[in-house]
Amino acid sequence: MRHIRRAQAAAVALVLAAALAACGDAGDDDDSGTDVDVAEGAADDFDDGTRMKELADSGKVVIGVKFDQPGIGFKGATDSMPQGLDPEIGKILAADLGIAPEDITWKETISDNREPFIQGGQVDLVIASYSITDERRAVVGQAGPYYVTGQQLLVRSDSDIDSLDDVKGTEVCSVTGSTSLENIEAEGAKPRGFDTYSECVDQVLNGTVDAMTTDGAILLGYAAQNPDQLKVVVEPFSEERYGVGYSLDHPEMCEWITDTIEDAYEDGAWAAAFEATLGQSGVDTPEPPAMDECPAD
Ligand code: GLU
Repeated sequence: MRHIRRAQAAAVALVLAAALAACGDAGDDDDSGTDVDVAEGAADDFDDGTRMKELADSGKVVIGVKFDQPGIGFKGATDSMPQGLDPEIGKILAADLGIAPEDITWKETISDNREPFIQGGQVDLVIASYSITDERRAVVGQAGPYYVTGQQLLVRSDSDIDSLDDVKGTEVCSVTGSTSLENIEAEGAKPRGFDTYSECVDQVLNGTVDAMTTDGAILLGYAAQNPDQLKVVVEPFSEERYGVGYSLDHPEMCEWITDTIEDAYEDGAWAAAFEATLGQSGVDTPEPPAMDECPAD
């Protein structure tokens, strides 16, 4: 069974490698994502005084995404736009405001600055592998989930680690401010926190740590970039429900985000976004998750 899972992970990684080659480490300045239908006259659809009306009137929106997570949020050095499921969701939301992809300002967010960026107004939305948690929902809004994944481990191909028990007492890296770092500490590993997952993966590759841990969807992207050196192991041991972060100063954004993503479930835009990004691994497009109710005002 264990070997079957390894073989499956390796096969997925190989297909992802081919697919993600299009993302290119150095970047190719090419948006290989989906085309979105930009709503015409969108400002008329929103009530005065709402944040959506302001954004639609301004024709601009700032969206925080990851820049170093292939398949989820990745922007090469010369790319004009990030690629991945998260930027695709951003394009769908912006289009509903009448804002074209080229008019979105993409701001790199790391795990630890997502709440401060929302609270400080540096971004209008965060769509950055951002798990919904009660602690986060106490300080920012999170609408969703629009995707669900689970935490796994990334190890060197020659590693003997293939169960959670194997990491007890070993050094495992992840990212400061992530749910992953907290979860692995609870499993008895010695957590080592970095600012970004790309720094963490380098530690696995150079042997400084025994394993890296975070959401499986993120780990598969890194394994795909280094299929001879890295593999994803263990069954998912957490549930990570990705949400769209917004400011609690603008609670009206929750219903808009939720409705717009539910429309994308209905009209095929969500499925197309998945297929153009994470679906390139050959994984079947999942049923989209039911969105949470928005909090009562
Ligand atoms: N989804 C988890 C989180 O929000 C881990 C991935 C990340 O750090 O972006 O903390």
